[in-house]
Amino acid sequence: MLEPTTPTLGSCFAFARNKLDEADARALCEEAFSVDFSGLIADADAPVTNVQLKRLRDFVRRRSDGEPVAYIVRSKGFWRHEFAVTSDTLIPRPETEALVETVLPFLSSVSRVLDLGTGSGAIGLSIAAETGAHVLLTDLSCTALQVAAENAATLAINVQFRQSNWYDAIDESFDCIVSNPPYVASHDKHLQIGDLPYEPHLALDGGLDGLEALRIVVGEAPDHLRPGGRLMVEHGFDQADAVGTLFCAAGFQRIELLRDLSNHPRVTHGLLT
Ligand code: GLN
Repeated sequence: MLEPTTPTLGSCFAFARNKLDEADARALCEEAFSVDFSGLIADADAPVTNVQLKRLRDFVRRRSDGEPVAYIVRSKGFWRHEFAVTSDTLIPRPETEALVETVLPFLSSVSRVLDLGTGSGAIGLSIAAETGAHVLLTDLSCTALQVAAENAATLAINVQFRQSNWYDAIDESFDCIVSNPPYVASHDKHLQIGDLPYEPHLALDGGLDGLEALRIVVGEAPDHLRPGGRLMVEHGFDQADAVGTLFCAAGFQRIELLRDLSNHPRVTHGLLT
């Protein structure tokens, strides 16, 4: 009689790879078996437990149904750290690193920074870790703030948190305000594609023209910036002109537009003199 074959790391990876693309299969196996990819290959003959196998099957089924890998493994790399993410937070995007990269030269350990709509905290925590600046992370969502607080604790980064609907609970003035607000137009078909249907609507939907949050974030920024303060926002690739106009109307000078790695206009910043 044939012995039932014992599942191994190698056969499990082959199973996942058969259903998913290489990157997803790797990430889910690494998480299910708590190994890195080199371990997966080097120990391909190592047996896996029934619990691990069940875990992988569950992961593969969820991914096949469309759930983003970052939510399944509850983590996403951004800038220099791994951030916990849940369905209450947007999954940090590589293009948002342009915002972090651009703001760093303007900051020092005495700067006061406001991160509006922080989600997982990826932007504000990366800024605090790089510069030692005093960063206040805000979000309308308490559950998102809990995730940001978990990330701050795990990464041992010292920041402050406040629940706020944009500037509603903000009385202080800052040297710099950063934000990746929701900027996708409500009717935009992208909201139905890829990872987006799984992500919080609150973090994506910028209203009829996608600019509702940006109007508040930019328009009210001068009330919360010190002289010489700077505002920096992420926006859609086709919103650069509209956002530039909002910056002008709010009295910003030296307005600059930056492109992301795909060469799309993505970040606008300006100075308040
Ligand atoms: N860049 C995101 C996208 O995938 C949108 C993020 C946002 O609205 N802040 O469309």
